[in-house]
Amino acid sequence: MAQGVMEQPLAEKASTTATKYVYFFGDGHADGNGKMKDVLGGKGAGLAEMTNAGLPVPPGFTIQTEACREYMRGALNPKIDEEMLVALDKLEKLQGQKLGAGDNPLLVSVRSGAKFSMPGMMDTILNLGLNDKAVEALAKRSNNPRFAYDSYRRLIQMFGDVVLDVPKKKFEHIFDAVKAKEKVKFDYELQPAALKTIIDEYKKLVKKETGKDFPQKPLEQLSAARDAVFRSWQNERAKTYRRINHIDDWLGTAVNVQAMVFGNLGENSGTGVGFTRNPATGEHVFFGEYLMNAQGEDVVSGVRTPMPISELEKAMPQVYDHLKAITWKMEKHYRDMQDFEFTIQDGKLYMLQTRNGKRTGLAAVRLAIDMVKEDLITEEEAIFRVEPNQLYDFLVPRLVEKGEKIEVLATGLPASPGAAVGQIVFTAEDAVKHHQRGDYKSIILVRGETTPEDIAGMEVASGILTSRGGMTSHAAVVTRGMGKCCVAGAGDCTVDEVKKELRVKGKTFKQGDWISLDGTTGRVIEGKLKTLPAQPDDPLLVKFMSWVDPHRKLRVRANADVPRDARQARAFGAEGIGLCRTEHMFFAEDRIEHMRAMILAHEESARREALKKLLPMQRADFEGLFKAMESLPVTIRLLDPPLHEFLPQREELLVEIQHLEDTKPRSPRLKELKTLLARVQELHEVNPMLGLRGCRLGIAFPEITEMQARAIIEAAVKVKKAGGDPHLEIMIPLIGSIEEMKNQASLVRSIAEKVFEEKGTKVDYMVGTMIELPRAALTADQIAEEAEFFSFGTNDLTQTTYGISRDDINHFLPAYLKAGIFKHDPFATLDQAGVGSLVKGATQKGRGTRPTLKVGICGEHGGDPESVKFCHKIGLNYVSCSPFRLLTARLAAAQAALEETAGAGHSMK
Ligand code: ADP
Ligand code: MG
Ligand code: MG
Repeated sequence: MAQGVMEQPLAEKASTTATKYVYFFGDGHADGNGKMKDVLGGKGAGLAEMTNAGLPVPPGFTIQTEACREYMRGALNPKIDEEMLVALDKLEKLQGQKLGAGDNPLLVSVRSGAKFSMPGMMDTILNLGLNDKAVEALAKRSNNPRFAYDSYRRLIQMFGDVVLDVPKKKFEHIFDAVKAKEKVKFDYELQPAALKTIIDEYKKLVKKETGKDFPQKPLEQLSAARDAVFRSWQNERAKTYRRINHIDDWLGTAVNVQAMVFGNLGENSGTGVGFTRNPATGEHVFFGEYLMNAQGEDVVSGVRTPMPISELEKAMPQVYDHLKAITWKMEKHYRDMQDFEFTIQDGKLYMLQTRNGKRTGLAAVRLAIDMVKEDLITEEEAIFRVEPNQLYDFLVPRLVEKGEKIEVLATGLPASPGAAVGQIVFTAEDAVKHHQRGDYKSIILVRGETTPEDIAGMEVASGILTSRGGMTSHAAVVTRGMGKCCVAGAGDCTVDEVKKELRVKGKTFKQGDWISLDGTTGRVIEGKLKTLPAQPDDPLLVKFMSWVDPHRKLRVRANADVPRDARQARAFGAEGIGLCRTEHMFFAEDRIEHMRAMILAHEESARREALKKLLPMQRADFEGLFKAMESLPVTIRLLDPPLHEFLPQREELLVEIQHLEDTKPRSPRLKELKTLLARVQELHEVNPMLGLRGCRLGIAFPEITEMQARAIIEAAVKVKKAGGDPHLEIMIPLIGSIEEMKNQASLVRSIAEKVFEEKGTKVDYMVGTMIELPRAALTADQIAEEAEFFSFGTNDLTQTTYGISRDDINHFLPAYLKAGIFKHDPFATLDQAGVGSLVKGATQKGRGTRPTLKVGICGEHGGDPESVKFCHKIGLNYVSCSPFRLLTARLAAAQAALEETAGAGHSMK
């Protein structure tokens, strides 16, 4: 154990005086509040509440989360064992059975369950208590040897995998070999003799891998399983899941020990999962899947393709009605859509779990609106029923099909809506690899079925395709949570994970080939289709946002460089442009040549010549932006990146020069290239991010600032003369001192005056700066004397505060996340303690000098819900983010404002 011991910060250690460790289901603690989930975990709390409501739940008990935290600290209280034995004794008496003993042995499941549901992230062991003797008793008692041996082989497999760390694959290998030998297609067709062979082989495998026999003592099995569940809280996939979902590592999981009921008892038994409403669309229809003669995870594992729950209505109408009534009651009780698990044992229904169901953004919005209509929740509660990131679903792309020749390769289940077009990979590792290398711009992960181990690969993929599994399979559930397109259970596809091939319709697709997925219809389409951005004018969304926006204090703006993006941003609710990067305009094909000419010029006069050619182009761009944004504010940043970014790469030049020297040594092009190379070498910097860029460019080459200021002001004057009302904010990048600010601001202002005089018209404008260097933040009081607004460039500010290169962080980010040094990528979620404190301090200092100072942030953090909430808290005026993050930012800002007024009553999870 010593190895796994974690240091927990002292302040977070709970007091251990008189802690009650074990709660019997329905022990009188089922008061249904949030605290209960802290102690019992979501699953334990749900089981207790269902028991109290008189629903058919197999009895059992919960070992509370504090025990897991003690386990992590390496200090498990002996009282836990004592209390567990007392509870077990109670369970045995209640059932009239003994754990794994006698002619009617008690079997239990050992189930993890944390405060926040983490589907499939941690481990469950079923049929615990079985051993060589008990299996015979079970066979006799049930008069069903197939069932008894099937249960035993499942136990050895699960226990071997979860508790003893024997690779799952090795069990599967044995299992598949016997199945092949017996020539059966489905697991349940295996006869007792074959199952016995499997059990023998499994036991040999356990002995070989661990050096010990599979434990025969039921109590030994029980404590080992309990500890394994505690350990599973710390497994990699659970850690990854928590990181993605921002769940605290120190919550720990509870362990539920529950009497088994059997869905694998025969054709009158089964197991299933379902939702009280459709989790993909939110529609008010009962939704689920089940399998007869199956146990536990068979339904979600995708081993067999399950039946829709509507079939159960025909096959077992009474069970169906009972299930519907129970789950409807649960929904009313929890006031939210329920995701439930059930088992039918010999025609009798048992409930095994209920929880608030995960849903797509589309469903979340529909549910929130419907539930307000049904008087289940209030409008304010509805605002918290949608997670800000989920609104992205409304903006997911759709495939462009009109006029395209489309080859549909297969149709699977529409597991998670939207469209994805990308290059295929067959393993999560490959997905991560190509994502990090950046050689695949968009990735589609193709799997037989995903497992929780694939989570990192799913995170970087644009879409997921599986050949097996249903609407509640792992792939389906996880992608819906991520708001990512998924086609599941496309049975016509053969996914060969060994050869890394996808075979369908007589065609073979290899890694790197392009396919297109439509998660809304389930179609898998050959090749690289175009996609259309979704329309954000869905009436449900519009209605929801009309509830959201009035609560918001923060304004939201978009980062947009061209009129097209600006128009898109307005459609998504942008109240201005917070960042227009003018350099993006220079990269256009017809401009880069003038840009290069400007950079290559050695004399100021030649530079001015080149800039003169760029001026009308820039002016036209700005005109377009001002027109698109009408009277909304537009922040335009002067040229920021190092000049060499506009020149060809040194290596490319060398190759081309060499080639010309070999083939056409007299060509004039050769001379040109050599000049270019010389300039590239002159401009070369060891640390370009800390080099000649930002305001340093405008100070070294004032004519650049002059040209840009002129283009901006002339455009504004022109638009105003034509009846427009532009609101411009000119932003000087990378300021570190008041002197720099003064230098550039006065240049801009003098150009503005000149233009006003020339044109005989004035426009209002502001000159401000980006705060993206610690020195600027620390001297913000001085800078505010010149700057009329601040915009925090938190990407660069994170880079310069941490001293971490944005472009190279991937070299060590995985190690930092793994070691828990970073909880999140600091470029994705603002580091509130460090960078955030600079932002806060600079805001205060700036406003101390200039009380009316307008302050916002631009950059990736402007669209990250947690960071947006932080911006609200410290009183910024606005956040600016990419157009696609606008809905998210709007909702996060409203939630932040409501959380402040309503106190702790609201929560996101
Ligand atoms: P997860 O958190 O991964 O959903 P669970 O603890 O819910 O794991 O267990 C997974 C499945 O195992 C359940 O859906 C159910 O089918 C089965 N299972 C768990 N406990 C029992 C039990 N007492 N009797 C029968 N099946 C059970
Ligand atoms: Mg479950
Ligand atoms: Mg910057």
